[in-house]
Amino acid sequence: MDRYDERDTIFSRMELVPGSERYKTYYARRPELEETDAGLRFAAGGTYRAGVIEQARVSSAFRFLHDTRPLATGRGQAAGLKPDRKPPPDKESFILTGSMLRDIAFDYGAVSFGYSALKMECFYNVRGRGYEYGKPVSEPLRNALVYAVEMKREKVEKAPRVDETYEVARGYIRAMVIGMALSYFLRELGYRARSHLEGESELVLPAAARSAGLGEIGRMGLLLTDIYGPRVRLGAVTTDYPVDALPGEYMPVQEAGKVKQFCSKCGICARRCPGKAIPEGEDLAESAETGKPQWTVNPESCYSIWKKYGTDCGICVSVCPYGSA
Ligand code: SF4
Ligand code: SF4
Repeated sequence: MDRYDERDTIFSRMELVPGSERYKTYYARRPELEETDAGLRFAAGGTYRAGVIEQARVSSAFRFLHDTRPLATGRGQAAGLKPDRKPPPDKESFILTGSMLRDIAFDYGAVSFGYSALKMECFYNVRGRGYEYGKPVSEPLRNALVYAVEMKREKVEKAPRVDETYEVARGYIRAMVIGMALSYFLRELGYRARSHLEGESELVLPAAARSAGLGEIGRMGLLLTDIYGPRVRLGAVTTDYPVDALPGEYMPVQEAGKVKQFCSKCGICARRCPGKAIPEGEDLAESAETGKPQWTVNPESCYSIWKKYGTDCGICVSVCPYGSA
């Protein structure tokens, strides 16, 4: 089954700098995308662009997030943040439970948590963002702890204004902190672990979250959770700790098929999407991760609206009725 090449995602393509070697190499491989991408990259717009202070709140949050990327793999530790680190304890001398890991995630603000041994289809084939651009993901750590943080309803309902974008950035930062807490903890115990955060992830996060039982992919292409619907941001840590052997209660698994049934009748996000990026009908395409049919969002149409608005839109998330909270 095909895996996603992260270099083909719209976010990776929009980060390409015209004239750079990376730019030339990419469009030599995908020449059919160059004109479309140039139009998107240089499109004017910004209907909902806010004042200097509001913009700085968003851009500073993303800059901070960007600067934490080296810590995702513990490179910060290796670079000497803790040079006097003691050897890890003997693995026979402690019992690590799923509840302990869930508690760490919840202590730092998670609202949902699960774990799963992931299929390779949940990983990008080749990295397209962050420090490992162009690197094949060939032998990743397969055991994953996956979690979600909630985005505040009152902020999400401000979409497509900048308040919603700020809430997205805030969600990414909280997810990053949880991933750092879990991955540093596992490394302290002598396991390998890496955190997957926005822009520095080997994982297709919604696929990993679905595999860990946090929810299912809805018509808008995002994970829908039973309680918060799509009003969540996701994060994950992969490790060589054998998660399937974790004893202890953690979180109930969402009922399979419920989202597809709901979305089939609903369709609100598709009708309200200003870019007509979300399919309205029952046309389903085969999912790269599961091979099962699911709806496919048009990323170019969506991104054109982001450029037009000068925010990340978010109307689909704000109008979705799925979820009990
Ligand atoms: S708005 Fe409706 S169709 Fe769209 S994802 Fe939410 S529940 Fe599904
Ligand atoms: S973010 Fe906006 S443009 Fe993109 S799919 Fe959602 S509603 Fe459509």
